[in-house]
Amino acid sequence: MKTKVELLGVVQKLPITDDNQPDLAKLNEPFMAKESVVKVFCSGCGHTSEITKGILDSFPEFAPLANLSLDDFLDKFVQVRRCVICDTKWRKAELVNINRVT
Ligand SMILES: [Zn+2]
Repeated sequence: MKTKVELLGVVQKLPITDDNQPDLAKLNEPFMAKESVVKVFCSGCGHTSEITKGILDSFPEFAPLANLSLDDFLDKFVQVRRCVICDTKWRKAELVNINRVT
């Protein structure tokens, strides 16, 4: 299995403030990589990223989402409490409707 550094590149740690809100514009931006299936927003550090089906299927943090079909991710994003930018792994991943973001 590839490491997170191989998949995501080397990144600088962001401080955890826990009061971040998702940015609707960022969530609606097109994916940077065509393999990506869903955006991931971290409420801990405020970072928005995107992940592929391969990452969803590979990491136990996303196990509750791994059996969903790609259509299930339409107009949704994954909110996590911690991510690989501010912590060692994603934590408490849950699927959220983008239209809940104001
Ligand atoms: Zn984070």
